[in-house]
Amino acid sequence: MTEADVIVIGGGIAGVSVAAELSRARRVVLLERETQPAFHATGRSAALFSEIYGGPPIRALSRASRAFFTGPPDGFADAPLVTPRGSLFIARPDQGAALAAFAGEADVAGATRMVSAAEAIRLSPLLRPDYVDAGILEPDSADIDVHGLLTGYLRLLKANGGVLVAPAPVTALEPGAAGWRATTPAGAFTAPVVINAAGAWADEVAALAGLRPLGLQPLRRTALTVEAPQDAAVAAAPLTIDIDEQFYFKPDAGRLLLSPADETPNPPCDVQPDEWDVAVAVDRVETATRLQVRRIQAKWAGLRTFAPDRAPVIGFDPRAPGFFWLAGQGGYGIQTAPANARLAAALALGAPPPPDIAEAGLDLETVSPARLAGRAEAD
Ligand SMILES: Cc1cc2nc3c(=O)[nH]c(=O)nc-3n(C[C@H](O)[C@H](O)[C@H](O)COP(=O)(O)OP(=O)(O)OC[C@H]3O[C@@H](n4cnc5c(N)ncnc54)[C@H](O)[C@@H]3O)c2cc1C
Repeated sequence: MTEADVIVIGGGIAGVSVAAELSRARRVVLLERETQPAFHATGRSAALFSEIYGGPPIRALSRASRAFFTGPPDGFADAPLVTPRGSLFIARPDQGAALAAFAGEADVAGATRMVSAAEAIRLSPLLRPDYVDAGILEPDSADIDVHGLLTGYLRLLKANGGVLVAPAPVTALEPGAAGWRATTPAGAFTAPVVINAAGAWADEVAALAGLRPLGLQPLRRTALTVEAPQDAAVAAAPLTIDIDEQFYFKPDAGRLLLSPADETPNPPCDVQPDEWDVAVAVDRVETATRLQVRRIQAKWAGLRTFAPDRAPVIGFDPRAPGFFWLAGQGGYGIQTAPANARLAAALALGAPPPPDIAEAGLDLETVSPARLAGRAEAD
């Protein structure tokens, strides 16, 4: 039996980052089911940082994460965590209303500028002139070094005496006099606080604790890489995304990363790409660009897990003392990880939220598990 102050379940970016933040002040044990951290959603992302992607809570948490990405703590990373890459939202003539509505949102207007079809093609030279009608450019978005981010947090956790145990699938979770007891094949662990950072499995972990599900839904998203024309302008192009999020593509280490931006409900598992979704990605990108895909170099899928209102779930569960949620990050869990981790660490310690996160515009109610827990009990 190992005693700790906090048990974190799940070794994706959510669990690793909050474990690292908490290890500054508490004894932390991080339990991961796989042999390595980041095997699931975290290792399968498109690695974008954008302040206008996602709903209002996500945008606030992304804004509050920027300073960490651009200026991480001393010794955290060996190389920059972010590399500039704009995001270009494009519209066909029939999508003008959607583009105008998006451009009219206050935080979008503050972070972007409108571009003409000609400028969109200059920026993203594979686009077909007869396809794109106009666009919005977010110049200050970026590519995230996900491996560097994860490694930095793991290093911080270790330096502070925190422990990662993997493989350590949690198979039972019981409350007791000494707090929560998590059972795994690698041993049993107790702590007054348990943090559920189990990604697509978060509702299943809650069920181990006897809690009704909050209704988190894993949605499959597919990505693939293909050969790109060896052209400096293509390599420097922004991430180019359809305004209705029907596809996106971006340069990726000499190749192009494509996605059909699919959202197919899928039970939690080691999800694999469906050939149909791969074909849809190729078709949509070929329709919008001059690209002709001859060979797919790599393809994968991952689960983006959403609460019913598509806002994250961060805070103590009102139904079970000491049971804390850090889940439902959807398609934005990398870009929001630094703020999510600081917020979750503060709340888990009973401290007020970091002031900069409220200043970035986050309303705590919008991420509180209480907003979903009542409904879960009524069902
Ligand atoms: C194709 C794709 C593109 C994406 N693009 C972006 C992007 O550009 N920008 C962005 O910010 N986000 C993006 N995302 C979303 C991002 O990847 C996720 O939001 C994020 O990785 C979620 O992290 P997590 O730690 O919550 O989940 P995960 O990384 O899935 O980690 C959860 C962990 O919990 C473990 N676990 C589960 N049950 C147990 C148990 N019982 N015991 C022990 N461990 C357990 C699992 O093994 C897993 O390792 C994308 C996702 C996909 C699939």
